Amino acid sequence: MSTLLDLVRPDLRGFGGYRSARSEALQGEVWLNANEAPWPNPADPDGATRRYPDPQPQALRAALAALYGCREDALLIGRGSDEAIDLLVRAFCVPERDAVLIASPVFGMYAVSARLQNARVLDVPLLDGRAGFAPDLDAMAAAALAGGAKLVFLCSPGNPTGDAIAVDAIDAFAARLAGRALVVVDEAYAEFADAASALALRGLHDNLVVLRTLSKAHALAAARIGCAIADPEIVAVLRACQAPYPVPAPCAALALQALAPEALAATRRRIGAIQSERDRMRQRLSALPGVRRVYASEANFLLVRFDDADAAFAALLAAGVVVRDQRGAAQLQDALRITLGAPDENDRVLAALGARAEPQVARTALHAAETPA
Ligand code: PMP
Repeated sequence: MSTLLDLVRPDLRGFGGYRSARSEALQGEVWLNANEAPWPNPADPDGATRRYPDPQPQALRAALAALYGCREDALLIGRGSDEAIDLLVRAFCVPERDAVLIASPVFGMYAVSARLQNARVLDVPLLDGRAGFAPDLDAMAAAALAGGAKLVFLCSPGNPTGDAIAVDAIDAFAARLAGRALVVVDEAYAEFADAASALALRGLHDNLVVLRTLSKAHALAAARIGCAIADPEIVAVLRACQAPYPVPAPCAALALQALAPEALAATRRRIGAIQSERDRMRQRLSALPGVRRVYASEANFLLVRFDDADAAFAALLAAGVVVRDQRGAAQLQDALRITLGAPDENDRVLAALGARAEPQVARTALHAAETPA
């Protein structure tokens, strides 16, 4: 019978990775085993950064496990979810032989990591229907099985499409690929969604990996803290492939503070404000001449099709507003992805696209309550 670890690259099975000074379970009072400095740098008067950090900072790991409702040994902390994507591809795909499966248009790093590993990229494009974009999960399962995919990336909510995949569908999909491929659900934008998280399925499928990040809803993009939540055997494999000290101590300290109850309450308020801006902007943008379609979104951005996307992009840029150009992406030649900003920033988007100003009274009444301090 095949086991989960049979999916790992054969040449990496049993690989323990680098044994750092911090990973030796030794006790002592005078630490002279890691060639660290005995005195702090003046830039770091407390010496908090003088020594190498815990590779998986214990307090942060506990706080993240509590946040995501998983066991600590089921969670790997990395430098953003970008690193988790890269580690998964490196640990599971034999170059030239194995494949990753994506559903485009989608976040570009899956294909970039595959390219760096010389893994094949299979693409079963998203279907663009009346309700928005959605993956064709039957076709994806068939393509994964036929094409030797080791990893299938499901982005939910999707970037740049904004759609979320129902957790029941992910449940059935993971079951179909059991023993054959890992199903990686990238939930970078999950906090903004109404749809349930695939974390609800943890423990049910050993081939399910969920990626989360503090970069978006938690507003810590520069701290580079992301997680893979997976079967502990997979976490151990990824850890062996990871750099010795992947989580800088100042970033870990900051992230830990961001997970304290008061900070989490502020995060919830910011999420509420984005959701309310999402409703307002979808409505306002949809009413503009020249806007063909504004997709429903479960994330902190809107995907917008224009009659003339070149002109819209140029008008926004001329007004000092930079949005994400999607014109090079398959199925999106007329589309821009607009991140939801603060209300005044969103108003600048509307003004640049020729919207009349909203009566200030209505705007204040509608949105002031949700705008976080
Ligand atoms: N996944 C998706 C879908 C994203 O859009 C992004 C960032 N744009 C990431 C992962 C990476 O996020 P980070 O590395 O900051 O956690």
